[in-house]
Amino acid sequence: MANASGTSLVWFRQDLRLHDQPALLAAMAGGARVLAVYVLDDTIAWPAGGASRWWLHSSLASLGAALRQAGAGLVLRRGRSTEIIPALAREAGAGVVHAGIGHEPGWRTADAEVARLLAADGRALALHRTASLIDFDAVRSKTGTVYGMYTPFARAVEELGEPGRPEPAPVAIKPAKAVASDRLEDWDLLPTHPDWAGGFRATWTPGEAAAASRLAQFVGGAVARYGTGRNLPGEDGTSMLSPHLHFGELSPRAVWHASRVEGEGRDHHTYRRELIWRDFSAYLLWHHPTLPEAPLRPAFARLASRTDPDGLRAWQRGLTGVPIVDAGMRQLWQTGWMHNRVRMIAASFLVKHLLIAWQEGAAFFWDTLVDADLASNSASWQWIAGTGIDSQPFFRVFNPVTQGEKFDADGGYVRRFVPELARLPDKYVHAPWTAPAAVLAEAGVTLGGNYPRPVVDLNEGRNRALDVYRRTVREAAA
Ligand SMILES: Cc1cc2nc3c(=O)[nH]c(=O)nc-3n(C[C@H](O)[C@H](O)[C@H](O)COP(=O)(O)OP(=O)(O)OC[C@H]3O[C@@H](n4cnc5c(N)ncnc54)[C@H](O)[C@@H]3O)c2cc1C
Repeated sequence: MANASGTSLVWFRQDLRLHDQPALLAAMAGGARVLAVYVLDDTIAWPAGGASRWWLHSSLASLGAALRQAGAGLVLRRGRSTEIIPALAREAGAGVVHAGIGHEPGWRTADAEVARLLAADGRALALHRTASLIDFDAVRSKTGTVYGMYTPFARAVEELGEPGRPEPAPVAIKPAKAVASDRLEDWDLLPTHPDWAGGFRATWTPGEAAAASRLAQFVGGAVARYGTGRNLPGEDGTSMLSPHLHFGELSPRAVWHASRVEGEGRDHHTYRRELIWRDFSAYLLWHHPTLPEAPLRPAFARLASRTDPDGLRAWQRGLTGVPIVDAGMRQLWQTGWMHNRVRMIAASFLVKHLLIAWQEGAAFFWDTLVDADLASNSASWQWIAGTGIDSQPFFRVFNPVTQGEKFDADGGYVRRFVPELARLPDKYVHAPWTAPAAVLAEAGVTLGGNYPRPVVDLNEGRNRALDVYRRTVREAAA
C-alpha cells in the first residue's frame, strides 16, 4: 500500500514479536519510518483477565526492549483504540496503519471503525495475517460451507500445503518522530497486595526470546514422544507454548517449521495437528462470533443448568474432594496454566457432575489462565459441554477417577498439587473416600477435615447430568 508520508504506524496486538511479523515488515517497506504502538483497550469485549495482564506486562517490556535495540521504541497508550489509533496516525503523519488481523468479534468491530476514521482522514488500515496459519475465509468445504467438524477442516488445511517459511526479525528499524508514551509501570498490570504471582514467575518467562528457547527445548526433546507424553500431566510432555502463541511472541508458522525435522515420526505430525486445532478454534470464532456466549447448538440454550455457588467455589479453589480435579485447579491457581488432559477432566466435572453452566467455567479460566484465548477457551468449553458442532457427544462424561488412574497412574501429579494426599498409597490417591480408615489415618488424611469429601457423588452427578441433557435434546426434537 502507498506510503506517501514516509511514516507508517504498526499497531501491535496479539503479535508481540519482531520475527515473522508481517505487519511490521509491511510498515517498514520502502524504507518508511515506523511508529510502533500498543494500546491497552479495556473497552473491547472480553478485556484481558488478571493472569493475562501479568503476562502482558513482561511481554510488552520485552517487545519494547527489542524494538529499542533495533532503533525504534514502543509507544504505550491506554484507552479506546478507535480514538487513539487514528489520533496517533495523524500526529505521526502516518499514511498507513498496519496491524495483525484480530479474529475476536470485539477487534473486528473496532477495526471496522478505525478503518472508517482513518479513511475519512485520508489514511488507511492494512490488516495482515500474524496470528494464524490459515486465512479463515479461504478454507471451505467443496460445497462452499464453513467447516463445523475438526477432521475435515484439518484435512483441508493440510491440503493447502505447508505454511510459508517464517521471516527473520529486522535488524534495524527507522524510527518515526517521537510521540508521548505511557509508562508500563503505571498500568498496574502486575499484582501487588497480595502478590499472587510467585508460582507464575517460577514457571514462566514471557517474551519473544524466552518463547524461542522454550520452542527449541521442546523440538529438541519431548516432541519425539508427544503422542503419549501429551496425555500425562505429571510429565513435561507438552510444549507449554500456549501463552507465547496467544500473545504472538511466536508465530504459528515458526512453531510449525521448527517441528518439521529430518526423519521425523508420527509424534511431530500429531503435534502440528494441535496447531491446526488452534486455528480451528479461531476459525469457529471468526465464522460464529457468538461462540463465547451462546451454544453453537441452539437446543442447548435451554439446558437447565444448576446455580450452585458453593459447588462453583469449591471447584475454583480446588476443594471438590476429587483429587485430579483439585490438582488441576490448583495447578491453574499456582501457575496460570493447566495441562490439557486435566482441563478436560476439570471442565467436564463442572459442566456434567456439578451441572453448572460452561460459561461460568470459561469465565473463570479467562481470568486465571496465562494463555486465556477467546477462541480456544470458548471452543474447548463448548466441546466439553457437548454444545458445540464438533463436540464430544453429551452422554460422554469423563470419570475423574478412572481418568486419574489412567493418566496419572503413580499419582505424581495429584501429590504435587494436593500435598495433603501425598502419603496415600497409589491405589487410593485418586479416590481417597474408598480408602479404609486405617489407611487414611496412616497417611494423615482426614476426610472432611484436611481434605474434603467429594462435593457430589460421582454416580449421582453423572446420572443427573444425563437426565437433564436427554430431556433437553428430547424437548428440542419435539
Ligand atoms: C476447557 C478448556 C479450555 C481451554 N482454554 C484454552 C485457552 O484459553 N487458551 C489456549 O491456548 N488453549 C486452551 N485450551 C486448549 C489446550 O488445553 C491448551 O492449548 C494446551 O493445554 C496448552 O498447552 P501446551 O502449549 O503445552 O500445548 P501442546 O500440547 O504443546 O500444543 C501445542 C499448541 O497447540 C495449541 N493447542 C493444543 N491443544 C489445543 C486445543 N485443544 N484447542 C486449541 N488449541 C490447542 C496450543 O496453542 C498449544 O500451545 C483449553 C482446553 C480446554 C479443555
